[in-house]
Amino acid sequence: MILKAITFDLDDTLWDNHGVMQRTETGHYDWLDAALADWLAERGESQTVRFATHFPLSAFVARRQALAAAHPLRRGDFTWLRERSLMGLLKDYGLELDDAGQWAQAAMQRFMALRHEVTPYAEADDLLTALGEHYRLASITNGNVDIRRLPLGRHFPVAIAAGELYAPKPDPRPFLAALARLGCPPSQALHVGDSWQEDALPAQRLGMQVAWIGDEATRLPAGIHRLAHVRELPELIAWLEGQH
Ligand SMILES: [Mg+2]
Repeated sequence: MILKAITFDLDDTLWDNHGVMQRTETGHYDWLDAALADWLAERGESQTVRFATHFPLSAFVARRQALAAAHPLRRGDFTWLRERSLMGLLKDYGLELDDAGQWAQAAMQRFMALRHEVTPYAEADDLLTALGEHYRLASITNGNVDIRRLPLGRHFPVAIAAGELYAPKPDPRPFLAALARLGCPPSQALHVGDSWQEDALPAQRLGMQVAWIGDEATRLPAGIHRLAHVRELPELIAWLEGQH
């Protein structure tokens, strides 16, 4: 086949994201709790119960889930869900609306800084450099990483933030948006991702080839190829290019 374009999922495809989310989630919430306590103390308004004691992380998670259920169109816009939920909790904690908004924004800035402290797999940069010489590359993520904030971002002329389009994968629209911007039909494109439901199935249904990074011994439908790690991608591409 003649491949023209390759689209990449990001989290758990180009880096291991599990530790990142854990550190980001607790890191920004702890920061907010401590910074808010200092700020209230300076103003002589110390509360008897600290913010994160009154609203532990589990309360924040529950608030986000309730907000997502109430606003299904924004269910993939994690940044909005987080900021709005924090604002609600801060108001309930007793802050004025303006202060709650500013603290929610500050906590989100902290969140985004921590969120971008990712360590791509050692092979990722060279792999993308080599692929970029032959193929048009795009990233498609449901997460709130802005790939342009990372050194790897230079490899992707097209970067789709599917959650912020309000159509997170497995919706076909982020795939179609990426392919349209790359000027490539699905039949000449390969999608690389770790999620069976959000990467492999929707891309295969559009007629793309799929490199699914997974470890289950599933029977694979035509067009879906399993890799244990993204570093195995060049072999798969060489094999696909040899097919007619
Ligand atoms: Mg992923």
